[in-house]
Order: sequence, then C-alpha cells, then structure tokens
Amino acid sequence: MFSSLALSADEIADWQKAEITEVWQPVPETVTFDQNNIPSDAIILFDGTSLSNWQSVDQGPVKWQVKDGAMTVVAGTGDIKSKEAFCDVQLHVEWKMPTQVTNDKGELLTGQGRNNSGVFFQQRYEIQVLDSYNNKTYSNGQAGAVYKQHIPLVNATKAPGEWQSYDIVFTAPLFNDAGRLKAPATITAFHNGVLVQNHVEIQGVTEWIGAPTYTAHGCDSLRLQDHGNPVSFRNIWLRKL
Ligand code: MG
Repeated sequence: MFSSLALSADEIADWQKAEITEVWQPVPETVTFDQNNIPSDAIILFDGTSLSNWQSVDQGPVKWQVKDGAMTVVAGTGDIKSKEAFCDVQLHVEWKMPTQVTNDKGELLTGQGRNNSGVFFQQRYEIQVLDSYNNKTYSNGQAGAVYKQHIPLVNATKAPGEWQSYDIVFTAPLFNDAGRLKAPATITAFHNGVLVQNHVEIQGVTEWIGAPTYTAHGCDSLRLQDHGNPVSFRNIWLRKL
C-alpha cells in the first residue's frame, strides 16, 4: 500500500530534482596567492635569489650565475637539477634568451645553436627551450616541442631579451612490477599562455639520435639543461598533483 504523501517524480519541486545531482564532498582545498601571484600550495624552486633547492647533475653545487632575480647558464658547468624528486606536477617557469644571436666571430647563431636549453621532467623528458624567434630549425626541435617527439601547435616565442613563460602539466609514466610500461607520460603545455602541447603522450626518454624508449623509474628531479648558451630562468615553481 502506498502512502498518500508520496510524491511522484512529476510532483517533486525543481529545486529538489536539482539537489539529486549536487555533490558536496570532497570540498576542494582553498588556494591563495602571494604578492607574486604564486599559489599557496606551490613549491618554489627558484625565487630569484637562492639556488638552495638545486644541485649540479654532476653532484656538487650549482655553478650557474644568480643575478638580478634570475639564474643564467654558465656554459660548460653542466645541467642542474632540483634536489627534490617529483612525479605528477604543474610547473611554471620563466625563461629569457640573450639578445646576442651571434658568436664571438660575429657569425649568426642558427637552428639548434641559437641559445638552446631545456626543461627535463624526471631528468628524462624534455620540453625544448630555444630561441625560436625568426630562427628555423626542425619543427620537433623548436621551442615548445617535446624534443624529437611532438611539434608545438604554434610558435609562440617572444623576441630575445623578453621574459617568456611555460606552464606545463606533466603526468609521469607508470610502470608495473615487472618494469613494463603501464601508461606513458603525458604533457600539456602553454607557452606564453598559448597552448602548444595538448595532452600528448611521451614516447620515451628524450633522445637526440634514434627512437625513444622507456625504462622503468620512479619520481625524479626536474632538470635544466646547460647546452652551452647563457639562457636565463626565473620564477620557477611547481605544484604536486
Ligand atoms: Mg635543449
């Protein structure tokens, strides 16, 4: 026997129908912003003054120059890496190319030779940093490329001397207990706020020669490349995802 008070679906008020699809838990954590607009849950890897969160890849202290709120590659001193290891992250990094685009002999630097560096996730997977402003090179090696794997959707490079940004979401690869790839790494990247990589799958460790492959690994450092050119970086922070 049905209660005479029961309402049929047609008789429920709209606000009650709407409530059925409301989800109240969990409540997202609140993020606030400091004076530099850095989110409160970010890990600041470089604040413009201290290299305390970094070390040389060859161990030992970093020999890059810190000046005027930026760190600059000192050619030949080697790549640097974060002391902390990371898995999935959202990274913000700003970089600037030197205005000099000629070598000591006054010859124009071209292609991959024009102020090259790189941001390597987990020390392995590179988003290219290059002066791609009026500088032709292979498309999968220009600024914003997942080096030798994915061509950027557009060339959003600013002129030498201007600060530019990368905002990148990196999802680490997953491996099973036998060390076989379970899920490839993915990258979504914005260059100066413009989408250049839209959730692309990384094919393996960045290689200059030959096809990329995966070898099982755990969380690892963020690495910045010394490719022999005085490229500058500042305002580096990331959020663990
Ligand atoms: Mg590079």
